[in-house]
Amino acid sequence: MDSVKYIFVSGGVCSSLGKGIAASSIGALLESRGYKIQMLKVDPYLNIDAGTMSPFQHGEVYVTDDGAETDLDLGNYERFTSTKITKLNSITTGQVYKEVIERERKGHYLGKCVQVIPHITDEIKRRIKLVAKDVDIVIIEIGGTVGDIESVPFLEAARQFIIDIGRENVLFVHLTLIPTITAAGELKTKPTQHSVQKLREIGIQPDILMCRIDQEMSSDMKKKISLFTNVESSAIISAVDIKDSIYEIPVDYENKGLTDVIIKKLQLHKDKVTDLTRWNKLIKILKNPETEVRIAVIGKYIKLQDSYKSIYEALNHAGYYNHAKLKIVKLDSEDITNESVITLLGDVDGVLIPGGFGERGVEGKIIAAKYARENKIPYFGICLGMQIMVIEYARNVLGFNNANSKEFDPDTEYPVVNLLEEQEYVDDKGGTMRLGAYQSVIVPNTRMFAAYKSDSLSERHRHRYEFNGKYRKEFESKGLIISCTTEGEKLVEAVEWPQHPFSIGVQFHPEFKSNPFDAHPIFRDFICASINKRGKV
Ligand code: GLN
Repeated sequence: MDSVKYIFVSGGVCSSLGKGIAASSIGALLESRGYKIQMLKVDPYLNIDAGTMSPFQHGEVYVTDDGAETDLDLGNYERFTSTKITKLNSITTGQVYKEVIERERKGHYLGKCVQVIPHITDEIKRRIKLVAKDVDIVIIEIGGTVGDIESVPFLEAARQFIIDIGRENVLFVHLTLIPTITAAGELKTKPTQHSVQKLREIGIQPDILMCRIDQEMSSDMKKKISLFTNVESSAIISAVDIKDSIYEIPVDYENKGLTDVIIKKLQLHKDKVTDLTRWNKLIKILKNPETEVRIAVIGKYIKLQDSYKSIYEALNHAGYYNHAKLKIVKLDSEDITNESVITLLGDVDGVLIPGGFGERGVEGKIIAAKYARENKIPYFGICLGMQIMVIEYARNVLGFNNANSKEFDPDTEYPVVNLLEEQEYVDDKGGTMRLGAYQSVIVPNTRMFAAYKSDSLSERHRHRYEFNGKYRKEFESKGLIISCTTEGEKLVEAVEWPQHPFSIGVQFHPEFKSNPFDAHPIFRDFICASINKRGKV
């Protein structure tokens, strides 16, 4: 192909319509048709990255191999496509302005008045083009909603692509909502019309409309939307709510002709054939589970669907691998007490404690870990979940009264979890944790070794605290198994309980590397052990 094509995915009417999943599905479909793609997320907020935002504000922070702290949609890109996501795949307003202002201070624009157009838009275009290497198509998801004040420079830059590289090389997909007004029992197209008008004000005529709707759109409705928006009926796709799994979405879009419309509009080769075999196989498995398994996930943001996104997805992947339907029991750690734990965890088959920061809810997690250890319930601790395992073992097996992490009790007598040495003089909060992929060594004859079937691993990290090596001998003499360390045994990366059906605590975040076709080995074995536990009840 002579030139790279660009697909911009914008959203209208309201947020949370699933733009990330729509963009990821487009990516998956184009890959299935034999194209090489790249995916990129533009976030119009002023933060440099998502790392400093609370899960309340932003949902999960997704970490890449190269240590970028990004939006959770980037996780969907990696789960749906084979794209390798790096720092370059995430652009925020903060990054763009920082770069332009730093250049201005160096005298780069000497004599000129620095402006949104062209300087900010040029920088946005430069960053988008950075990922356009060795690929046929770049898909750019524009965060936020059309009409947001922060989105304007990004939409403006997108519009300029038409002049820069030609209309046939740029495609605009706009995702909107067709709400049902319950009282009248009517579907309303007006918000979609208005949202497209907003886009057209900026000079962008969408090529494809994807309409979130709770039932299939009638052809009359498509014709009406077409008249008002200037998008032909065949390019208006009803993005109907899918019941069982997000992984059904690409096949649904393919069946509705989405890929064909994209191919036609971008003037791509028509003779390539789609191969959706693996997607169809996955759907068959997830629709026909052979068993069910109940997993408790214990966190303090548990009421927010997006806070543990990659954890839930990785659990689902492991469920598919084991042909099991997963019932995730979401528990708020602050509800767990010595009294409530039996009721709350009494009928679960496995307990997972994910990552987290700050003291709130920690004691409930420690009680849950004790219950899982003593009652031989499969346990999987991730990052903070591993540190909880260590604190609980110190208090209840080693007899270290009030042992704790220095994060939660800086004056504790037994700081069994301590600040990483490299963090001691770090004051800034943004991008300063131990971040990204590191190699570690796996100890033979452990559950970790059985899972990875290898003596080394590379996993992504995001933490400031670690197992305190000073107490290692005491822990080991009381049976705690250290099953993974960094090279030279400097940092402890994984621990396991002795005489327990399944327990692994890891300092890293394996959930970021799981995908529906290749469940992560620890999640896979954890679900398998939980199914076995259920069988024994
Ligand atoms: N708060 C802990 C730390 O900084 C755990 C971090 C996490 O769970 N991601 O080490």
